[in-house]
Amino acid sequence: MSGNNDSNHGPGTRVTAAGRRAEWTGTPGHPGAVVSPAVWRASTHLYPDMAALRAHPSNEDGNFYYGRRGAPTQWALADALTMLEPGAAGTVLYPSGVAAIAGVMLTVLRPGDVLLMTDNAYEPSRVMGRGLLHDFGIETRWFDPLDPDAFAAAICQRTRAVLIECPGSLTMDVCDVPRLAAIARARGVISVIDNTWASPLGFAPLKHGVDIAVMSLTKHVGGHSDAMMGSASAGADWYRTLRLRAQGLGTVVSPDDASLMLRGLRTMDIRLQRTTASALALAQWLMQRPEVAHVLCPMLPGSPGHEIWRRDFTGGCGLFSFVMRGGTAAARDALIDALALFGIGYSWGGFESLATPVDPAPIRSASAWPPAGWDGEDRFGVRLAVGLEDPGDLIADLDGALATWRRQAGRNG
Ligand SMILES: *Cc1c(COP(=O)(O)O)cnc(C)c1O
Repeated sequence: MSGNNDSNHGPGTRVTAAGRRAEWTGTPGHPGAVVSPAVWRASTHLYPDMAALRAHPSNEDGNFYYGRRGAPTQWALADALTMLEPGAAGTVLYPSGVAAIAGVMLTVLRPGDVLLMTDNAYEPSRVMGRGLLHDFGIETRWFDPLDPDAFAAAICQRTRAVLIECPGSLTMDVCDVPRLAAIARARGVISVIDNTWASPLGFAPLKHGVDIAVMSLTKHVGGHSDAMMGSASAGADWYRTLRLRAQGLGTVVSPDDASLMLRGLRTMDIRLQRTTASALALAQWLMQRPEVAHVLCPMLPGSPGHEIWRRDFTGGCGLFSFVMRGGTAAARDALIDALALFGIGYSWGGFESLATPVDPAPIRSASAWPPAGWDGEDRFGVRLAVGLEDPGDLIADLDGALATWRRQAGRNG
């Protein structure tokens, strides 16, 4: 769905206003009379007569034709996301974030192509390279996200696209996206970013030279851990191509889920402000703790990647990791088990806090983990998705869990 980007207003104003077109938020005869679009559950569009059916406009957004092309609920969400993404001409919705990544890859890549992927990419993206894309004759190669020269050197005749994840959603490495995007563009390589961590409120990929911005709406946009969806936003050319491929693949999202996403979107700015501030408070507290060797939080001064984050990003979120000083996997697991206010589960971006183990060593193939310069004993990590609870309560919970870790790791304290 296409729309005008209005980047003159602040993010709170923009998430409040985005996508609320009068024609999609009306009651009969009263355009714009309700605040949010209705849930239009519709597969079929009825035409008054044959002439109307024959005269139906071509394949355009905003013209109801058949359910697979969406209805006002989905259009309003896509339009809102386009308005929040500076440089985007349109947004395609997918049933999940992984479906968005797959949908984009199956649009830009052809058999025989090489895809380059940052080595910090989230595991399902890596699995897609080895599985789905491999089966379609596409070869995926990984590169060190912190080494733009390695990226440039990895580009060959067959390289068609690069998939960047920034920050890496486990290890939080912040790569130089403008530099990678510039290298890609100069060499005719299509750049795609998984921008789920920052969302367009924290990082504007297309303004930094990236061609296609993908997001799992399941995380920050939904915000309530009750719905799944993904999106891809791009300039006019890629938008049209992505949209046609999504139609060809038959990917649709339900109006009920689109309505949940729109509801979440309205509070996304205030939630991100809160979770960013809380994550920073927890990260600062953890940094002072002798049990903790490294805090991997892009918003934290002194944390790896903080300088690039400050240069390129306008916001953060509640997702960050830390690495214990030595210890064992069992001690780390006991720490997570001892947390009362953090659920144990994948995903993030919901209102509730979560914790998961971080063990990237086995999945990395082009960069070392633990990174060079670290004590190799320091490798048992924890990823926190900080929610909307009071940060003081979360810190007290972590304090108790660190005591459990000390007992398990045989440390006095
Ligand atoms: C969760 C996630 C996805 C996939 O999103 P789903 O909606 O769960 O399919 C993609 N990228 C990142 C970085 C994620 O964390």
